[in-house]
Amino acid sequence: MELIVVDKVRKQYQDFVALNDVSFSIKEGTIFGLLGPNGAGKSTFIRTLTQITSPDSGTIYFNGEKINRKHISQIGYLPEERGLYKKMKVGEQALYLAQLKGLDKKTAMEELKYWFNKFEITSWWHKKVEELSKGMAQKLQFITTVIHKPKVLIFDEPFSGFDPVNVNILKKEILELQNQGTTIIFSTHNMASVEELCDKIVLINHANIVLQGKVHELKKQYRKNIFQFEIELFDDSDKSSLEKISKGARKVTVDDNYFSGLISVDEYYQNLDNISKSEKNNMLINELMKLGNIVSYNEVLPTMNDIFIQTVEETIDK
Ligand code: ADP
Repeated sequence: MELIVVDKVRKQYQDFVALNDVSFSIKEGTIFGLLGPNGAGKSTFIRTLTQITSPDSGTIYFNGEKINRKHISQIGYLPEERGLYKKMKVGEQALYLAQLKGLDKKTAMEELKYWFNKFEITSWWHKKVEELSKGMAQKLQFITTVIHKPKVLIFDEPFSGFDPVNVNILKKEILELQNQGTTIIFSTHNMASVEELCDKIVLINHANIVLQGKVHELKKQYRKNIFQFEIELFDDSDKSSLEKISKGARKVTVDDNYFSGLISVDEYYQNLDNISKSEKNNMLINELMKLGNIVSYNEVLPTMNDIFIQTVEETIDK
């Protein structure tokens, strides 16, 4: 079921269009990537979803209804710029924020205990917020964002300032929240984490959606017929064939009798226009087989980073 439907949402600041009639939808229980270069319009969209501002035209539907004030408590938002009261003690601060989200004191304490144990930070309870490192403060803010179990969570660059161990802990928690049915909107420039976590994305550039779809489908759609191979060379493999492939490949390495590399089949057979992709593939495999035993031969799909850069560059003047 589509939990959030965005229908032709437009937002202007005077003459400047920050969101140009954007439409997309987010399925319940999925992790949705909201992507785009700086200034694309992502925060403007988040502000309309969290009802900090209202769109000039267009509508957002939440759970089948036109979004309204009563949905605010069902949306948790972890902004990129995080504000905590520095002078307050960690526990006091957490309890205060949890109650602000509508939990009674007893439930708030129970939930905080659960999360502080889970993150192994119970010893921080009496520390002052200003004593926390950036990563520690972020953990605290993560807890206060998810504590009231909202239906939707918005995470804006949630991993910035975290070391790899803590990034991993947070990723697991995000996946766990998804498992429990939470819908997650994830805005980041870290494309590796998009690949790892997101089911679907929209890519916004200059106020317009320039790409949207399922991550695994986009990767297939943008495939460039590039293959990675590894061969165990025969003792008597033909030197000139080896040279031909080395020249035509994007990258090769010879390590003892192992010959490996990356090859664009279209570049390698660039003069053979009327031959299909699969035929070219078979021809290449044949050439490789003559040199030795094939250890591996796999297609290398583009990364989300490649797709992001290509799409943004193609739409730069739009
Ligand atoms: P992103 O979050 O993708 O980096 P934003 O949504 O913050 O982008 O901004 C989109 C564009 O709208 C930017 O060019 C920004 O300068 C402009 N903008 C955002 N908020 C305002 C505002 N309150 N007044 C005028 N322009 C704004």
